[in-house]
Amino acid sequence: MSTNKKIHSLQAFEILDSRGIPSVSVHICLENGSHGSASVPSGASTGEMEAHERRDSNLFRYGGKGTALVCEDIEKKIFPHIKGIDAGKQQLLDQILLSIDGTENKEVFGANALLAVSLATARACANAYELPLYRYLGGIYGAATRPTPMMNILNGGRHAENNIDIQEFMIVPTGANSFSEAVRIGAEIYASLKELLKKRGLSVSVGDEGGFAPNLNKDEDALDFLLEAIEKAGYQTDTVKIALDAAASEWEKDDGYVLFKRGISKTSAELIQKFETLCANYPIISLEDPLGEHDSEGWKKITKTLGNRTMLVGDDLFVTNRKLLQKGIAEGLANAILIKPNQIGTLTETMETVRMAQENGYRVILSHRSGETCDAFIADLAVAVGAQFLKAGAPARGERIAKYNRLMKIEKTF
Ligand code: PGA
Ligand code: ZN
Repeated sequence: MSTNKKIHSLQAFEILDSRGIPSVSVHICLENGSHGSASVPSGASTGEMEAHERRDSNLFRYGGKGTALVCEDIEKKIFPHIKGIDAGKQQLLDQILLSIDGTENKEVFGANALLAVSLATARACANAYELPLYRYLGGIYGAATRPTPMMNILNGGRHAENNIDIQEFMIVPTGANSFSEAVRIGAEIYASLKELLKKRGLSVSVGDEGGFAPNLNKDEDALDFLLEAIEKAGYQTDTVKIALDAAASEWEKDDGYVLFKRGISKTSAELIQKFETLCANYPIISLEDPLGEHDSEGWKKITKTLGNRTMLVGDDLFVTNRKLLQKGIAEGLANAILIKPNQIGTLTETMETVRMAQENGYRVILSHRSGETCDAFIADLAVAVGAQFLKAGAPARGERIAKYNRLMKIEKTF
């Protein structure tokens, strides 16, 4: 195959995500005949500072959420600027995307449009080199490791109609010897949780990320179910830990918090106390967004009190944005970061944020969104950048499984 990796043609498609809401997919062909596609996901409990996700706003199509015009702009307005660019020059390509948009938040074309182009280019180039994506990206980056899965198997918060305040209850098989073993352990615990819920007459229908959403009374009930499911599946909490995503920005109200499910008001200090108690009573290794994105003082305090034994993960707090992370590092907020490429909009920026996190001793968790596609780009990216964890939902639903299956395949060829 010729070595000419110049971008030759591009097509953009309005596709649906796992919620049936439009998203964007891009297919890029290079002059040497290689090609690659990428599809982007979409969040529901989004951080305020995320890059702009552009939609058509035509209320006659998909309730205003269509992406047909977004795709038209990719083909007509973005493509002419990148035609002929060497697909191996990812940084140059991403720089062009940023400059033709010209806004801090990708307001003109949308982070969804830019990311689809950015990722499809990387895939096309990996294909041109006949390299698996993780190896190509790892070559750019220089690291390679196997992440541990964080599997969201029980839901509360905005993701469920129950009285549980915390949004995600995840199991983390930290004691597994391989990624495939971790997936097996996770899937077995997921199955045992299903049996337990059924036996107690509770619902086993699943939420957007594949986790169950039974009608329980409080957070501790959910944690007790997790412990029981772990034990019933034949495992112990020395090999399987728990991670929580509180998504506490959803609770921020005026100067404090309202845990809206039961209408309980809490100050920042009381919320920190709640998490200290939970961490003292359960094998919790990670707390994502335990406080809201506006509560810097609270983040500072919780990082001081729990940070030496628990991962404190900034999702809405950092939104994969290097500047926000830099500010957080300076102020002593959190000790880990959730990385969602569509929060920022290009591959280069995503990798820059990852690198800054790693250089400052922050753990890295690659993450899906609640609205996903079957594109498993984040699985390859997690391996390439040496992320410690991959959060991709329950071991159920095709768009979640696509990520776990991809990692099991990568592991075999490692
Ligand atoms: P989102 O939620 O993808 O709906 O934003 C996931 C999360 O908060 O981590
Ligand atoms: Zn989150």
